[in-house]
Amino acid sequence: MLLSRPFTSTILSALLLACDSGPAAKPEPAKAEVAKVSAADTPLSAAARAPAVITAPAVDLAALKAALVRVHGAGQQVRIERGVEQVAKLWRPEDGDLAAFVTEFFIADPAVLDATFKRFMAVFEQIEGHTHEIGREVRRASDVDVGPLLAVDPLLAAYDPGARLIEDLFTTKVGFVVLLNFPLTTLAERDEHGAAYSRRQWAELRLAGRFGRRVPGEVRQAVTKASAEADRYVSQYNLWMHHLVNARGERLFPPGLRLISHWNLRDELKGRYGDPEGLARQRLIVTVMERIVTQTIPAAVIDNPRVDWDPVTNAVTAAPADSVEADAPARAVSLDGAREDDVRYAQLLAQFHAARREDPHVPAAPNAIARSFEIGRELPEARVKALLEQVLGSPLVPRVAAVIAGRVGRKLEPMDLWYPGFKASGAPPEAELDARTRARYPDAQAFAAGLPELLTGLGFAPTRARWLAEHIRVDPSRGAGHAMQAVRRGDFARLRTRVGAGGMDYKGYNIAVHELGHNVEQVFSLEAVDQTLLAGVPNNAFTEALAFVFQARDLGLLGLERPDAASERERVLNDFWQTWEIAGVALVDVGAWHWMYAHPDASPAELREAVVGIARETWDRYYAPVLGGQGTPLLGIYSHMISYPLYLSDYPLGHLIAFQIEEHLQKSGALGAEFERMSSFGSVTPDVWMTHATGAPVSAEPLLRATEAALAAL
Ligand SMILES: [Zn+2]
Repeated sequence: MLLSRPFTSTILSALLLACDSGPAAKPEPAKAEVAKVSAADTPLSAAARAPAVITAPAVDLAALKAALVRVHGAGQQVRIERGVEQVAKLWRPEDGDLAAFVTEFFIADPAVLDATFKRFMAVFEQIEGHTHEIGREVRRASDVDVGPLLAVDPLLAAYDPGARLIEDLFTTKVGFVVLLNFPLTTLAERDEHGAAYSRRQWAELRLAGRFGRRVPGEVRQAVTKASAEADRYVSQYNLWMHHLVNARGERLFPPGLRLISHWNLRDELKGRYGDPEGLARQRLIVTVMERIVTQTIPAAVIDNPRVDWDPVTNAVTAAPADSVEADAPARAVSLDGAREDDVRYAQLLAQFHAARREDPHVPAAPNAIARSFEIGRELPEARVKALLEQVLGSPLVPRVAAVIAGRVGRKLEPMDLWYPGFKASGAPPEAELDARTRARYPDAQAFAAGLPELLTGLGFAPTRARWLAEHIRVDPSRGAGHAMQAVRRGDFARLRTRVGAGGMDYKGYNIAVHELGHNVEQVFSLEAVDQTLLAGVPNNAFTEALAFVFQARDLGLLGLERPDAASERERVLNDFWQTWEIAGVALVDVGAWHWMYAHPDASPAELREAVVGIARETWDRYYAPVLGGQGTPLLGIYSHMISYPLYLSDYPLGHLIAFQIEEHLQKSGALGAEFERMSSFGSVTPDVWMTHATGAPVSAEPLLRATEAALAAL
């Protein structure tokens, strides 16, 4: 997991890419997005007093621009027109006299402009770097194992010193000086001209990009509230599996098994492939999922082990007293079978209505879909869609499906969307691996001391390995582990790793090596990048891909054989199938948002019908030909759709980017030098970054090539 890259260009991307799958890896909203703004913090409802986009009405912008051109000359006309427009779009009446401001702060003299740019770069590194450190330190007791938590620690962890930073920079006019003198660009402009931009131009765009939106506190609060409510809804959506009954009244699942939708339901389904009675159980889980999506699930059965439910007939009966779990929550025994009544879609609509309030405050990306793709990922929606459709419609799909059908020995069904059977073979037993890692790393300090050796083992030159290790601090973590970057030079990247009393077990080691990949990228992309305004990587999928490069080599670093060719083929096929699966889910997610923007006054019931329709259409087009199940709404089951909307596209993109980077590294053979060359390029757009890194823009080809090769060698 990667924690907190709050002030780079990805500040606006709503979510972090989770490092692994499963319920524990639910993506978390980035801090900047979830920061709670108390009512007292916000100026008295500016939006209530003025129209959504607030431009000081008295100012004649054309006259103002003409006056500035008269002062500074026609050579400055383009800069003046652009700068004044950029300021005017976000200026509010309480900001004062717009004309006086632009007259005083427009900079025509190139030497002064250059000095101002450099001042901003230096000062922003300090503001953002120290703010980040404060944020890190208030969370320290929550993140790092420093002994028992105090009652106040969660309160401290919820404090986000960066929450009001951008607004403060606007009210002090610093943000407006940036907007008056440096260019905001759209993604389309960056895509068209990005390859030809100088490094300085990139840095100027990133500087201005920090001020591309100015969202009033109460609007941010509404977004946070809707998101928190959706998250609460999703996090309590459990099914008590012992209380699912079939037509004969049999219980197919053991007592006590309480599964959250969709994560645990999906993982239970995956885990039933080896089970001789698995098929009936898997089919039942699919039916449950379909009923959740269509909202035909009886409301009384949600998180309620006091009733039994036959998902096929939808009959609800009182659970016999001796079947009710001891830890059953207090719930009413309602047997009327009344359906959930579209709560799922009411939650999604609430997210939409909150997000829509942001639209007028982000001139460059005036709807949530554009913000997600053009600001968050910096890949246009059309391009992402084309990449996903390339995988979805690939002729490799039926070929991989045939391999799966051969292995399961039957015709494929919708549940095989989650087939988990491509697995590495021949790895040493986990106990043997545990013994090795425990002996080598008895505590976090031992892992810290071993960093240079790990890094030279990966292919970094000894001096570079020592330099990297000097920029990383290792802390014992409370959770499974995470990486946290530094945001100013002189600070340290943090590797948080969990080490048990008996030393670091293999699982912990595997995660720590992944986190080290993040840290090394973070050190290069801050300390070795030429302009600190460009620190970072294009988006989270890139740092995840770079972390996987390290993680995939963890056995070799222990002095063991790397996975053999057969295991490598299994890994490729597994990734292909997962990418194919989640690509369709992502299309449904995006499709739902387009529908909401086209039908802003829709009721939850209408939204339900629309989402079910989009899910069915997507299934029938791409999945039914290989998995059957014509018309199933299964693709609508992901909880992210409700609680972290527009996030799901990051998963398939992450797979594509990881394959592209890995393919290049395997070809080049010089991991240390190439890793440094890639990661020190900084936060440009994904295509410019990838072209510099691998010679080609972001592409699905490397994954498809690897899959083709794996199939050919089977
Ligand atoms: Zn990660």
